Amino acid sequence: MRVVATTALVADLVRNIAGPNRVQVVSLMGEGVDPHLYKGSPRDVRDLAGADLVFAGGLHLEGKLIGVLHRLGRQKPVHLLGDELTISHESKKLPDPWIRDDSMPDPHCWFDVKLWKLEAELLSQIMIDYDPVHRSEFQSNLRNYSAQLDQLDSEIHLSIGRIPADRRLLITSHDAFRYFGRAYGIQVEGIQGLSTESESGVRRTNQLVDLVISRQIPAIFVETSVSDDNVKALVEGARARGHNLRIGGSLYSDAPGALGKPEGTYAGMLRHNVRTFVQAMTDDRSFMPGQVQGVGT
Ligand SMILES: [Zn+2]
Repeated sequence: MRVVATTALVADLVRNIAGPNRVQVVSLMGEGVDPHLYKGSPRDVRDLAGADLVFAGGLHLEGKLIGVLHRLGRQKPVHLLGDELTISHESKKLPDPWIRDDSMPDPHCWFDVKLWKLEAELLSQIMIDYDPVHRSEFQSNLRNYSAQLDQLDSEIHLSIGRIPADRRLLITSHDAFRYFGRAYGIQVEGIQGLSTESESGVRRTNQLVDLVISRQIPAIFVETSVSDDNVKALVEGARARGHNLRIGGSLYSDAPGALGKPEGTYAGMLRHNVRTFVQAMTDDRSFMPGQVQGVGT
């Protein structure tokens, strides 16, 4: 079965749930690609045309591909996972509702491992509906992966617990980390809004300089898939006022690292982010979140 995923994170989820024996997965976007701005290539058109099943992050994450996905949905199954999950999640009135701006749901739900686990359940159900013969295989993959996600979730809680409470402040280029903040008790501020399409202003930068100084925050972070101009401006703004702010490292927000590297999976990307954040905020460069065998492989 040929499956096309729009983003590398969705592709990783498909690999874990569908398993390598059942599907061949192609991801349209790879390392360092910003899904909010991604427009697609002629190769993507060929990949999508040859796909049996298509999965996307949804909730306007793929802002420029949405027309293509809707048109494609008339010919073959196209699942916007975030949209489908929001609908089922809200109808069941589960705790931790979707984060919204006005009425727009925030698409970056992978940063709450519990929500990503629900997305794994949804994906497993879609696979079963599509290919019921292999039901038990998809169910067993889901059980294994869910257990790994549970371990990852508690590992993140323990890691963040090492940061003094007043330093649990994460400032990054754009607003990708609000689910992360809510799930793990971190105040999160994006210099830009929810999508990288929105602009950041001088006023917002000054507001964050005030916050960094008043809380004596040592570091802020760039994202691998977003320009670092606004982060640099904030660092300069703080330094001009005598506060030695630095860039604490690079976080994966909307795209994981290169396929084949530890950061190339969902779990590896989250571990990298947590390690980078905890090291910068505790000045403990040797800190490593506990290694959990097999997660995300
Ligand atoms: Zn984003």
